[in-house]
Order: sequence, then structure tokens, then C-alpha cells
Amino acid sequence: MNEFELIQAYFSTLASKGVGKGVELGIGDDCAILTPPANSQLVVSTDTLIAGVHFPDSTSAFDIGFKSLAVNLSDLAAMGASPLWFTLCITLPDRNTQWVEGFCNGMAELIQQTGIQLVGGDTTKGPLSISIHVTGAVPVGEALTRHGACVGDDVYVSGVIGHGAAGLEMVLSDFEAPDGSRFDEYLLDALQRFNRPQPRLALGQALRGIATSCIDISDGLLADLQHVLSASEVGARLVLESVPLSDAVMAGCLFGDKSERENRLLACNAGDDYELCFTAPENKRESVDALAAEQIVTLTRIGSVVEGASIVEKGGEELVGLGYQHF
Ligand code: ADP
Ligand code: MG
Repeated sequence: MNEFELIQAYFSTLASKGVGKGVELGIGDDCAILTPPANSQLVVSTDTLIAGVHFPDSTSAFDIGFKSLAVNLSDLAAMGASPLWFTLCITLPDRNTQWVEGFCNGMAELIQQTGIQLVGGDTTKGPLSISIHVTGAVPVGEALTRHGACVGDDVYVSGVIGHGAAGLEMVLSDFEAPDGSRFDEYLLDALQRFNRPQPRLALGQALRGIATSCIDISDGLLADLQHVLSASEVGARLVLESVPLSDAVMAGCLFGDKSERENRLLACNAGDDYELCFTAPENKRESVDALAAEQIVTLTRIGSVVEGASIVEKGGEELVGLGYQHF
């Protein structure tokens, strides 16, 4: 199967599963032709995933397909955008059609869930890497950003933190707990969440007009919150004990013989959670609570925005977000 047959057999089929609005011309020409929705702004983002760096080599084709699109959709969620279109640049080591099929099936699941449409890309040969460029839309002037947090705002996080840390730990430890026993069901759930993160798109869109700033947690809660604080030129006081942790982290067995606080800090410094961290004024507390009920996702208040530049605990001790850095 050559490059064009691969595109035809797999990527064109994948494109037909989306319902992205405004696609005048999709895959097959030199460029796609797209009409943006009226009265909206386009929101664009790109993320590259490299085998061995962004996902362990043992990850299935399906999960790689799912996760590479999910992390890009998560960026749209953080901006409060609705997904429209994406392009896919894929570098494949060989013509393993079974792998490509699995990859496309993983991606198709999210395409069907969100309606985003594949409109083009590039297919090359080399070490496995996947680069996706997503486009979404927001009503003019309503995008959520990192720079709007104000002193006095509450700081919230969606869902629970630690699936990413626990899932990765499970992969690295070959699915065995330190005492040699197999993992419980909730740990397998963490692994599933690590491989197939759910982008919080509905929540992001619902936060327009409520949140003053927003970010998705890809590098770790503390590191990502620090990005918001730097962009907004403020600090935050965090109640570390109030950060909701996944059952897997609470069980503590994943990180060996560590205290609850150490586990908590590890989870808050690990990436791959893809929850949203956002700030909102105190007078929006009722709206946030109503949202949590409506969205069927927990939204937890974990601190407040204060003057300063860093994250501190109640007593003033500084919490440094290490996060993951490539260089
Ligand atoms: P060009 O030589 O003009 O770059 P290509 O031969 O690379 O064109 O691609 C032909 C068509 O197939 C283009 O419309 C391109 O967007 C699309 N395409 C190529 N690879 C992919 C892919 N991995 N996913 C989606 N569309 C792709
Ligand atoms: Mg090309």
C-alpha cells in the first residue's frame, strides 16, 4: 500500500466520520477550504506526540489515536471553544495497515463523540510521530485565556487529579503493585483514563462568561496553575489538602512508601490529567455549583487568587510546580 492508498483507505474514511461545519472542500486537494461560523473567532492549536516521549512504547494503536486527538481537543476546551476541524501529520515507521486501522479507530471514537472533522494532513515515513492541528470557534470576544485571573477570585479544578500519575506509574511498573499483587479495578480505571483522557469540552464552553481564566492540566496542576498566575500577574493561595485526588493516588500504593502529603505533591506535579483549572469571581460561586450539577463533573474550590507571583499554602510556604519540561 503506497502513501496515496493509505490516505485514501484510512484518512479519507476517517474524515467522513466527522460533521465539522463549513467544510467546502476537505481531503484531496492542495488545501482544504473552510468557512468559519458567523460572529465567531477561530481558536487554533497544535500538539506533537512522539513515541517513547508522550506515550510509552507499549501503548496500543487505538489509544495513541485517541490520546493524540484528545490532548488537542483539551486545548480547545481550555479556551471555551467548540471543535470544528483538524489536520493530521503522521510519520510512520512502516506500512503496518493493522496499526493504522487501530489508530484510526481510536481517533474515530472521539470524532464521533465531538463532531470535529479531519480536513487534511501529511503522511511521511520515519520514527513514529503524530502532529495534530485543531481549529475551534468561540463567539467573538468570549474565549477563555490564561491572563484574566484577578485578586480575590476562587481557584477551581474539575474532576480529580492523579489519573495521569497513577496510569503512568502502572505502565512503568508493568501492572504490578509493589507487594506483587495485581492492581484493583480503580487502578485499571486510572490506566484507562491515562490512555484515553476525556477532553472537558462541554465544561469549557459552559465556563464562558463565568471563568476569568482557564487552562487544561497537561503538565501538572501546580505547573499549569503557575502558567495562569504568570500570565495574569498574580499569585494563588492553595489548600493542598482540598485538591481532589483519584482513588488510585489516595490508595497510596502506587508511589511506594510515601506519606499522604508526598503522594499529593507527586500527583499535583504529574501531567496527563487533562482536567481544567480555572478561576472565577466569588460572586459566581452559585453559577459554578450549578454547572457542576449540570455537567456531571465535580468542580472543587482549591484556593484563591492573591497578590504576588507564586503559589503558597495557608501558612505562606511556597509550592513550586515542577511539571514536565522537554529541555
Ligand atoms: P501535497 O503533495 O499537496 O502536500 P499530499 O499528497 O501530501 O499533498 O496529500 C494529498 C491530500 O491528502 C491532501 O489533501 C492532504 O491534506 C491529504 N492528506 C495527506 N495525508 C493525510 C493525513 N495523514 N490525514 C489527512 N489527510 C491527509
Ligand atoms: Mg504532502
